[in-house]
Amino acid sequence: MTATATRLLDNYIAGRWVPAQAATGELDVINPATGGTLARVPLSGREDLDAAVQAARAALPEWRAVSVIARARKLFELRERLNARSEELARSVTLEMGKTIADARAEVGRMIEMVEAACAVPTTMQGRILEDVSRNIDAETVRQPVGVCATIAPFNFPAMVPFWFLPFAIACGNTFVLKPSEQVPMTQALAFEEIDALGLPEGVVNLVNGGREVVEGILDHPGIDAVSFVGSAPVAKLVYERAARTGKRVQALGGAKNHMVVMPDAVIDRTVEGIIGSAFGAAGQRCMAGSVVVTVGDAHQQLLEPLTRAAEALRVGDGIDERSELGPVISCEARDRIAGYIERAVADGARIVLDGRVLRGVNPDGAFLGPTIIDGATPEMEIAREEVFGPVLTLIHAESLDEAIAIVNSSRFGNGTSIFTESGASVRRYRHEVEAGMIGVNIGVAAPVAFFPFSGWKDSFLGDLHAHGADGVEFFTRKKTITSRYFSSGQGSGSYFVER
Ligand code: NAD
Repeated sequence: MTATATRLLDNYIAGRWVPAQAATGELDVINPATGGTLARVPLSGREDLDAAVQAARAALPEWRAVSVIARARKLFELRERLNARSEELARSVTLEMGKTIADARAEVGRMIEMVEAACAVPTTMQGRILEDVSRNIDAETVRQPVGVCATIAPFNFPAMVPFWFLPFAIACGNTFVLKPSEQVPMTQALAFEEIDALGLPEGVVNLVNGGREVVEGILDHPGIDAVSFVGSAPVAKLVYERAARTGKRVQALGGAKNHMVVMPDAVIDRTVEGIIGSAFGAAGQRCMAGSVVVTVGDAHQQLLEPLTRAAEALRVGDGIDERSELGPVISCEARDRIAGYIERAVADGARIVLDGRVLRGVNPDGAFLGPTIIDGATPEMEIAREEVFGPVLTLIHAESLDEAIAIVNSSRFGNGTSIFTESGASVRRYRHEVEAGMIGVNIGVAAPVAFFPFSGWKDSFLGDLHAHGADGVEFFTRKKTITSRYFSSGQGSGSYFVER
């Protein structure tokens, strides 16, 4: 083992890399493809968080006073810096999270796209004005930063998810504290090297490694004004309630169970491509992963065989190997948890068409699970209801689009969903009636680009304003409305209430 292999990660507070001062423990950061240790991450304590919040609060007046154009230029520079290190960032994502290098490159592309979208802040942060709301009286709404904003991130997008928030928050003049997932803290350590190189005022952007204690510290801290959370549904609920208790602005993006409806008129080969990417990309560990296919009428018969063949053909292996098409899941514990879902699906009466638990030729120390297809499920079964978060695709059959929509809408989640069909009328009905925040039409993973808002409905999201796009600027600004008039000799005074 080399010296760098056991590096203990630092926090980044007030413009400096500092060791955690109040850590309650340390965790190994594991490469899920090999079981090897990549680094160690401190479980920082509340004092570490407090130092970051103090730094962020102290930096607020100076950063807010930087012109919006100068703030945008810092983001242009960050974009160039991240671009220059994009391959290194992608490799880091694959090493610590496991997804294939091609997928990791796409993730880093999306991360950088978030910075690009935030560069538009001199336009997107503009307010509104209306002259003569009463005689000689004008009204205008301006947008101002919210204050100190914190983000709590999940393991499955080590590069992108923190950047759903960070660039938008600082573009709007806020200061920022990030808590990355303790399972994948290395990619943000790299990104923060580039943030450090921007020479922002000390404390504008801070990073505190850790787990639950830091999260709870964020939720309770009176010095934090807004919290963005992304992770599982139970923690999203906890975050939403506890942060609201201390009066913070909160957006909490939770878990998902995404359905893909296949109509009998779907173009089957393109549909199979879309489903395979959606179900098995990132080994099914995306909040936008399609994990249930609802086949309508003849679609089942047309789809099952080509879908099974395509899944079977996926090459399972270490994501860093360019030839791999399906990497490991995040940990051996996750693999065993997912295998438990498969077992219980069979016990519930579903049929395994392709069993990923039987795998050869992979590193036995890696957290590998092959593509799995389960047919003949009913909407009530656990496998059809719960988020499995692994490379497991479940098929449910429906007789009509009506029935398919009812199945999709019976889920307590409502993140993303797709329909595959050539019929405009079916699409119109589906997009109008389905209860989910993001819809794909002949597209498997309909994750909105940075310039549009990202979020689900129902248990997949608690809050109001979604992530990035125009909602990003809304979330990270407070509106202030000014009603004004000015007196000068020779002009009528006007009365706000009387002379309308
Ligand atoms: P997680 O909920 O276990 O962890 C998310 C964050 O919360 C981490 O930073 C972790 O340290 C912290 N945390 C975990 N348990 C906690 C607790 N009891 N108290 C306080 N903090 C706690 O989620 P994960 O396993 O890292 O990520 C996978 C989940 O995230 C999936 O459910 C997936 O659907 C969801 N996700 C959702 C979206 C979305 O946009 N809706 C995007 C990505 C991931």
